Amino acid sequence: MYLSKILRPPGTLASRLTLWYAGIFTISALVAFGAFYLVISTVISKNTDQDLMADVQEYSSMLAAEGIDKVKAEMAWEALSDGQEHIFLRLLSMDGKELAATDMSAWKSIGTGSRALEKLRRGADYVLETLDLPEQEFKARTVYGSIGPNLVLQIGESLEEDAEFLELHRTVFIPLMAVMVIIAAIVGWLMARRALSGVEEVTKTAIEISKGALDKRVPFKARGDEIERLATTFNYMLDRINVLIKGMREMSDNIAHDLRSPLARIRGVAEMALTTSATEEEHKAMAGSMLEECDRLLGMINAMLDIAEAESVAGEVKLEEVDLVSLIQRACELFQAIAEENEVKVTARLPESCVVYGEARKFQRMVANLLDNALKFTPPEGTVTVSLKADNGQVVISVIDTGIGISEDDLPHIFKRFYRCDNSRAQQGTGLGLSLVKAIAGSLGGSVNATSHLGKGSTFTVTLPELPLSHQFQPSS
Ligand code: ADP
Repeated sequence: MYLSKILRPPGTLASRLTLWYAGIFTISALVAFGAFYLVISTVISKNTDQDLMADVQEYSSMLAAEGIDKVKAEMAWEALSDGQEHIFLRLLSMDGKELAATDMSAWKSIGTGSRALEKLRRGADYVLETLDLPEQEFKARTVYGSIGPNLVLQIGESLEEDAEFLELHRTVFIPLMAVMVIIAAIVGWLMARRALSGVEEVTKTAIEISKGALDKRVPFKARGDEIERLATTFNYMLDRINVLIKGMREMSDNIAHDLRSPLARIRGVAEMALTTSATEEEHKAMAGSMLEECDRLLGMINAMLDIAEAESVAGEVKLEEVDLVSLIQRACELFQAIAEENEVKVTARLPESCVVYGEARKFQRMVANLLDNALKFTPPEGTVTVSLKADNGQVVISVIDTGIGISEDDLPHIFKRFYRCDNSRAQQGTGLGLSLVKAIAGSLGGSVNATSHLGKGSTFTVTLPELPLSHQFQPSS
């Protein structure tokens, strides 16, 4: 809980990313500087130690070759040339007695190093110590080394130069790092802003849409990144919602329009029945016409409910065996009376048998709607043929007529709710029959399509998969 608060400080995503970026950069730079500083200081102190030990070695060789006086003279010269406040050289006996020394006034508090001498007595070649002397501003490093029998040379030097070198590194690096952290924070902020600008645009568009600007879209920048994909998906979703809203608006307009006329007619007849003095016969006729209008209204409402039900079918549907051959034969028989009245010949081209799994009621409604339309829109002397084929795992039901046909302009719209072609207005209808066929075909996992030639006839084809005993359906779109 506490850790997650630290990892997610309050503020915008851009400021959080900037903090993270600058934080990680600072930590990395500190670690890099720390490691660099450690390596440099180790190398410097190693070099100092090696110089000191090489010095002792030199004096040891000098003593062997040129004697003690030369050693003393060289010690004095070295202390003078390097500065007596920076370096001292001292000759000691193994038990700590001072035998000779350069000017020790800047090194007053230095002891004889009894512990170092003890180590030398035990056989160590060199003993190195770091000294913190009150009279010296900087720390000092000293070496003890045996250069002859019972003769120890001690050299001590101030670490001022080393300290200055390291101080220089610190004074250069710290401001440099501060500048780099500021630059990193600015760059991080700019990068985060740039990366998140797309999200901001999506948010802005969403706010405008929520205020009612339904036509607003996120501007397209062709950046090819995740944000662009988000924007494209968002725009696509808005398009879909717009289409749905438009569809719903159109549908409610159509419903209002189509319900208004029968209701107005019912009202008119009822008014007439109340206001005019009519005979019983006339009253009966008026009641009959009101019943007819009511039936029309009920038919329309039932068709809409059926479409809604077919479109919302989702999940497990229990199917039964349906003998399509006898189902189509029965439908043709039922429509025979109307066909004879219209002087239209109905024929069925059916295979010997075709049993599929499905819902018989749905098949009946599809065939009945298509036959009803074909008979309605086929003039006398015409023919209506119902054919059934089953192959390649598909069932194809076609209803072919030689009727008035549908124009190219109307054809793409006939499956929309309430759509009726102008040339068919003389016939009764609700404009919902084909929508129901489409919704049912979709609910059975199939489709319906139409081809037509104006004045020559139309063919409606329902294609359905031959279904297994139980099948998972998705609602049709
Ligand atoms: P309706 O109740 O008007 O028949 P449908 O949804 O069944 O409604 O049909 C929509 C429209 O498509 C019809 O009004 C008609 O204009 C046209 N249509 C449908 N079937 C045929 C057909 N077989 N021949 C010519 N036009 C047709």
